[in-house]
Formats: sequence, structure tokens, C-alpha cells
Amino acid sequence: MHCPSCNAEDTKVIDSRLLMEGKTVRRRRKCLSCEHRFTTYEQFQVQLPAVVKSSDGRREPYNREKIMKGLKKACQKRPISMEQIENLLDELEKSLNEFEGKEVPSSFIGEHIMQKLYQLDPVSYIRYGSFYWNFSDVEDFMTSLKSKSSEQKGTQSEQLQ
Ligand SMILES: [Zn+2]
Repeated sequence: MHCPSCNAEDTKVIDSRLLMEGKTVRRRRKCLSCEHRFTTYEQFQVQLPAVVKSSDGRREPYNREKIMKGLKKACQKRPISMEQIENLLDELEKSLNEFEGKEVPSSFIGEHIMQKLYQLDPVSYIRYGSFYWNFSDVEDFMTSLKSKSSEQKGTQSEQLQ
């Protein structure tokens, strides 16, 4: 991103905001050479970092539909609305947008989703965990569940307000 004032290459994002239901991001930027501040509007999709699979290091573009499919499957017949799933994905995309770097490990996405899902519905959380993390051993999974649950007691009560 070049500075429109002095054409320097080093600009810093000082604020990002989602517009148009998460499809566009407005960024406030500051030029590091001349301090000029300017605003850019960008389509969300092109800005998201590529996802690097932890299993084999393959890169693929972020795919909202694909993640949503997995989430719908995990939330089937559970008291979670489409709106909640959409919100979860919007939040995920927001944090991906703020992620520094052009590539993001797939575990970043998995952990983000797991954390939010845990707060929404433990059953969907377990289901998603079994799809996403491929827990072959139930005990491993329960151990991970217990450590998550003690970690998150604080954040959960804050969210109840
Ligand atoms: Zn400048």
C-alpha cells in the first residue's frame, strides 16, 4: 500500500472496521515516512490471509462456505441459529483480517471457532472438535475439554451481562 501523499511503501494500519455485513473493510492507515493519514476501502475476500494446513503445509484460500458447512453439521438439531453461525464467521473473519501476515495456520481458525462454539453450545463444540481435530482417542478429547473449560470460566461470566 503506497502513501498517496509521498508514495512511500511503508504504511501502518491504525484502525480496521467491517462494513456491509463484513464484506468490506475500511482501514485507516498512516504513512510511516510523512505521517499522512488516509482511508482505504477493500473487499474482504482479497484481504484475508491464505490458510496453511497444519497437516501437510498446503495453502488454500480462506473459504467461508466450507467452514460454514462444517459448523452447520456440528450444530445440527442444536439450539444455534443461522444468525449465530453467521456472527461467529464474521468474528472469525474480523480476526483473520487483523492477523499480521499473508498466511495463517489452519489451527488459528480451528481454535477461534472452538472457543466461540464452547460459549454457545458444548454439544456442538464437542461435535466440531471431533470433526476438526480428528480426536481418535476420547480420553484426549475429554482432557482437552477440561482444560478449555477451566480456562474459560472467567470469560464466560463476563459475556453473560
Ligand atoms: Zn507518506
